[in-house]
Amino acid sequence: MNQTPLYMQNTYCFNLDTQAIAQGTDEHGEWIALEQNIFHPQGGGQPADTGWVNDIPVKVRKHPSGQVVVYPQEPLQFEQNATLRTAISATERLQNAALHTAGHLMNIVLKPYGWLATSGHHFPGESRVEFSRMGDEAVPVEELPIVEIQKDIHARLRAGAAVTAWMEGETRLTLIENTEPILCGGTHVENISEITDFFLKSAKVKKGTLRISYHAAYSNR
Ligand SMILES: [Zn+2]
Repeated sequence: MNQTPLYMQNTYCFNLDTQAIAQGTDEHGEWIALEQNIFHPQGGGQPADTGWVNDIPVKVRKHPSGQVVVYPQEPLQFEQNATLRTAISATERLQNAALHTAGHLMNIVLKPYGWLATSGHHFPGESRVEFSRMGDEAVPVEELPIVEIQKDIHARLRAGAAVTAWMEGETRLTLIENTEPILCGGTHVENISEITDFFLKSAKVKKGTLRISYHAAYSNR
């Protein structure tokens, strides 16, 4: 039976009743694959959700089968075809989605300066995006107008823009309205106006890689 990756379709689905479609044991312990899966596994620079099944805490991982599975941290007994109550921490999901979506915005804003985002790490307190030069025309790091870049991002957040995602075959694309699509499997806010408290913490260059650290939070103003 196929799993529906609900976390890719709806960032704001925090609770759901569903059923197990597979179970097993591996080096991380006993796992369960859920039919309707609301859990985001760690990946693409984003942390895994904190979650529960029938109120028992679970760890979330991507299984070699490609499905997302959960590892109950205490014994979890249930009958075949039983309804399982699944839940994630809404606060953490929204914070992570805000940080992650803000990371995309940084890709978009830095590109005209000749810097291409190559990786992101969107964990609370340590969020950063790394950039490589797109060519000789790239603006030297010491000439990057960091204050202007932050102002540009603030203006975009104030104006708001819808964030959408869709599948093209096996590939998932994400688009912030009026920008370019980005390949991504992460969770995003529905509109960048939900991102608040954005600021750039530092911009450092090491061996040609530019690393910009930032902060952002979630608000449904
Ligand atoms: Zn993304």
